[in-house]
Order: sequence, then structure tokens, then C-alpha cells
Amino acid sequence: MARALIVGGGIAGDTLALFLERDGWEVTVAEIAPALRTGGQTVDLRGDSREVLQEAGLLEQALGCLVPQSGAAWITADERRLAAMPVEAFDGQGLVSKEELLRTDLARIIHEAAGPGVTRRFGETVEALEDKGNRVLARFRTGETAEFDLVVGADGAHSRVRALRFGPEENYRKPLGLAHAWFTLTETPETPALDGWFLMHNTPGRLSVEARPGHQGQQEIGFTFAADTLPPRHDREAQFALLERTFAGVGWRTQEFLAAARQAPDFALDTFDQVEMPCWHDGRVVLVGDSAWCASPLSGLGTALALRGAAELTAALRSAEVLDDPDRLPAALAAFEAAMRPRAASAQQLPPGRVAMVAPNSALGIWFNAFVMRAVQSKLVRPLIAKAMANSEHGRGSQGADAPSLVHSA
Ligand SMILES: Cc1cc2nc3c(=O)[nH]c(=O)nc-3n(C[C@H](O)[C@H](O)[C@H](O)COP(=O)(O)OP(=O)(O)OC[C@H]3O[C@@H](n4cnc5c(N)ncnc54)[C@H](O)[C@@H]3O)c2cc1C
Repeated sequence: MARALIVGGGIAGDTLALFLERDGWEVTVAEIAPALRTGGQTVDLRGDSREVLQEAGLLEQALGCLVPQSGAAWITADERRLAAMPVEAFDGQGLVSKEELLRTDLARIIHEAAGPGVTRRFGETVEALEDKGNRVLARFRTGETAEFDLVVGADGAHSRVRALRFGPEENYRKPLGLAHAWFTLTETPETPALDGWFLMHNTPGRLSVEARPGHQGQQEIGFTFAADTLPPRHDREAQFALLERTFAGVGWRTQEFLAAARQAPDFALDTFDQVEMPCWHDGRVVLVGDSAWCASPLSGLGTALALRGAAELTAALRSAEVLDDPDRLPAALAAFEAAMRPRAASAQQLPPGRVAMVAPNSALGIWFNAFVMRAVQSKLVRPLIAKAMANSEHGRGSQGADAPSLVHSA
């Protein structure tokens, strides 16, 4: 039986594990976190996400976990609405869809669908990958070694596999100038309700604070601000200090959220980056998902691409009949790359002004953003936007609000 090692048990890694196991591979998933990583905002079930979940037989389950949402609204510090877009806008194809579930739920559904052919190694990663002719020798953090026919780096934008095999992150990382923190807030009796609305409060200087409905009794909170570099990932105190400094004077519920961030078990902070690589495979090692082509949350397509990438890689391995003839592996990886490159390249093409729209720099920019949001829903402009959406090549997917790039997803 052919053996695959998947490094990273996120959306791309766990989806691939599920598909490869079904095709008869013996799969090991090495995930650095001590357990399935939950957290994150919402994932939109349109486009690729829907199609791949359907193919995996998991769509019904995903549809059973939808977050009730009314729409997105841009608000002032006293919660006056500057603009709003309900879920009904553009016949349900607007910024926030009726069919969104939390990333946490999607990750759990995919994770739990895998069978006994998938071995999980939590708290684990690879330290070295050595070519042994028709196999790759992986050395794990524990010091243990094992040989695999295929090694997949599905370990996200800061991929270890990419660094080991293709070179350091700075060779491929393209920062977009913004950073984003996100976490789940557990409501108390004093917590103001969101009533289904995804609320965004912008202040000049590229500061954005967001709150959207999560599970019953929870709200998903986001902070977006200008930054290309951040304190080290392990230094939580420095991360909180940076956020508190950056958002010190911001109104609305910002100070409540800053305090809650320190209590949240799923707090995360990262820059909005893209990853651009000339090639995603080398011998028996291949990258899939954010490790290969991160389009950034600003694309709204991260999860859709991760799901599609896992499906395309499986399809390429299957159609090259790699299980019958392992020598066909390089050709299968080339076919996978050929299938995914146009999709990834298209997702990475953010429209001009995208950053300014997510986090405007000035009061005028905030006003203009709200004006655009209202204008696109006006009787005059709406039909043109609807037509553009209908013509969109492949449906949008992924986290949260992701109708043609009007607002960022997280
Ligand atoms: C907890 C979490 C929350 C997220 N929330 C949002 C969000 O709110 N909005 C948004 O737009 N995007 C979010 N993302 C990113 C989004 O999930 C991805 O863009 C998209 O789904 C692509 O998935 P991926 O599997 O390629 O990468 P990821 O989802 O990032 O998964 C990578 C996995 O690899 C693991 N990993 C990392 N390094 C190593 C290593 N060295 N060894 C082994 N395992 C490793 C990680 O723990 C993670 O489980 C989130 C990602 C995570 C992990």
C-alpha cells in the first residue's frame, strides 16, 4: 500500500487525508497543534467549497451547521449604520451569504469523516525530508523516522515543508500591508447582542474592528490594522501589547474586545500575505493550500482553494494510476499543478484599492467605502453588479463575506 505523509491537518490537509484514504492510500497526518485546530470566522458554501464538500459527501452535514446571519453593516462608534448589505442582496449572492458555517465546524466535519486508514500525529512536525530514490525519508520532531511515497506540505502560509524543501519564507511571501487578529468571544449577560449582523467599525489610520455572530452565546471578533511584520508567534504578551497600543483610542466595543482577546483560547494574529512560488512540487514532495498559493483572507478564497486543491491533487494521483505505478507520481504532481495554477493565480489578483476598502486610511475613505456599499445596491447599479457576479468564472468560496471582493473575509 502506498504511504502518504501530510504535514498540517488544516482544511487542505484533512480534506486530502480523507480523499486519499478513500482511494486506498495509507495516510499519516502530522499536525503541530496538540489537537484539531479550531477557530476562525465563517466559510461560505458557494462555489468550490460547495462542490468539493458535495464530492466528499459532507455537504449536508455542513449545511446543518449554518450560522444564522442577517447581513453585514458598517457602523460608527455609537452603532449608527453608515451602510448595510443584507443577506438577501443580489439574490443571496452578496457579501454575506445565508449559507455560511464557522471554520471550526467545517474543520471538525472534515476531520471526523476520515476513517481508520488515517493515522494522526498531533503535536508533531517534520524536521528533515531526505530523498531515498523512490521514497522520502521523513524525520519527525520526536526524532523518529519513516519512509513515504508522497509527502504533502499542507502546513499553511508559514509552511515548514516549504522551508525545508523550497527555501525560506521570505523568498515567497508577499505582504499586503495589513495584519489581522481574530478570536471567539464568549458572551456574558452584559454582552450586547449582534442580532445576526456582521458589524464593522472603521476608524482613520487603517483600523477596523469587527464582530460577527458565532455559535449560540459566542461572537467572532476581528481586529485589522496596518502592519507588515509582527512580534514572534510564540510571544503572546507582545502581540496583545501591540493590539492594545494600536487600538488604544478606538471607540465602539473595542476596549471590551481587547480585554476579551486575552481570555480567548483560539486567539490568533497574522499578517495578510500572499505566497507566490514558481513551482509547488519537487520529486515526491508537493505543497497544497496556503503553503503553496496563499491568496490571503482578502481574496475570500482561502478555504475554497484549499478544498479544491485537495480534490485536484487526489484526482491527478488517481488518473495517473500512481497506486499501480509509483513512477507516475511526478507526472501526477505536474498535472495537479497545471490544474490549480490558474485558479490560484486568479484568486491572488485582488482588485485595486482592496486594502483601502477593508481598512480605509482617512475619514473620507470610510465615508467613500460606505457610499460604495450603498451605491452598489441602488436600483441603477445593482443589475450591473448582479451581471458581473453571474459571469464570475468560478464561484467564490471561503471565509465569510466574499462576494466579488467588496470586503475581506475575516
Ligand atoms: C485556526 C485557524 C483559523 C483561521 N481563521 C481564518 C479566518 O478567520 N479567516 C480567514 O480568511 N482565514 C482563516 N484561516 C486560514 C484559512 O483556514 C486558510 O486560508 C485556508 O483554509 C487554507 O487552508 P490550509 O489548510 O492550506 O491552511 P491552514 O488552515 O492554515 O492549516 C494549516 C495547518 O497546518 C498546521 N501547521 C502549521 N505549521 C505546521 C508544521 N510546521 N507542522 C505541522 N503542522 C503545521 C496548522 O496548525 C494548521 O492546522 C484560519 C486558519 C487556521 C489554522
